[in-house]
Amino acid sequence: MIDYIIVGNGLAGISFSEIALNANKKILVFDNNSQPSSRVAGGLYNPVVLKRFSEVWKAKEQIDFAFPLYHHIQKKLNVTFDFELPILRKLYSIEEQNNWFHAADKPNLSPFLDATLVKKVFSNIDSPFHYGKVNHTGYLNISILIEAYSKYLQSINCFSIDTFDYNAIEFFDDHILYKNTKAKNIIFAEGFGLHANPYFNDLPLDGTKG
Ligand SMILES: Cc1cc2nc3c(=O)[nH]c(=O)nc-3n(C[C@H](O)[C@H](O)[C@H](O)COP(=O)(O)OP(=O)(O)OC[C@H]3O[C@@H](n4cnc5c(N)ncnc54)[C@H](O)[C@@H]3O)c2cc1C
Repeated sequence: MIDYIIVGNGLAGISFSEIALNANKKILVFDNNSQPSSRVAGGLYNPVVLKRFSEVWKAKEQIDFAFPLYHHIQKKLNVTFDFELPILRKLYSIEEQNNWFHAADKPNLSPFLDATLVKKVFSNIDSPFHYGKVNHTGYLNISILIEAYSKYLQSINCFSIDTFDYNAIEFFDDHILYKNTKAKNIIFAEGFGLHANPYFNDLPLDGTKG
């Protein structure tokens, strides 16, 4: 009996798989390449909503968790997919400058909003009020991650390139049976493919809202 069947090898499925494997759990991952979000994403991460200078939900907790996980995977698979990329917010007025400094003083935002304005001149951009710099920003090249992680899962016999058939699940008190695989748990990480999942397709997943 394995611990987890995981449906989906996008960013969510990979994150779950890696944490499960690190906890010595036995897994089997299914992916049929039907949902391309993780492959085509810009992959940007930015802890601050730059319209109003407010914190993204649980930004610090997310960063404290995600960075070590990504760096661990990079080292383990000997690939690089996490790239730093500075984000500069053009400030449009003295008032916006003041708002920036005010926000940068807040304990939850001070690690992210640099208190020194960037006075760099970029050709063709008129910016007399300068730029605020956001710290801890960058992007993941998730295609690189998916390719490397798929190969890794294949090398440890934990990957099935196949469409998961929801009708083939049989439920028992302490496990499920999927074809000839017995598992204690099943994790659905199908991204937008969730709409085809008869157990969770009532969730309000909107294609343009993450
Ligand atoms: C154009 C674009 C740009 C984006 N830019 C950003 C950005 O800059 N920053 C950011 O944070 N987010 C961005 N996003 C959002 C981000 O890409 C997604 O939130 C994230 O990749 C979703 O990951 P996921 O693992 O949940 O789903 P997915 O990446 O969709 O992975 C789900 C996987 O499940 C598989 N699957 C589904 N159903 C089945 C089945 N029945 N059997 C087998 N396998 C199945 C699919 O093949 C797929 O590989 C962007 C999205 C798009 C589309």
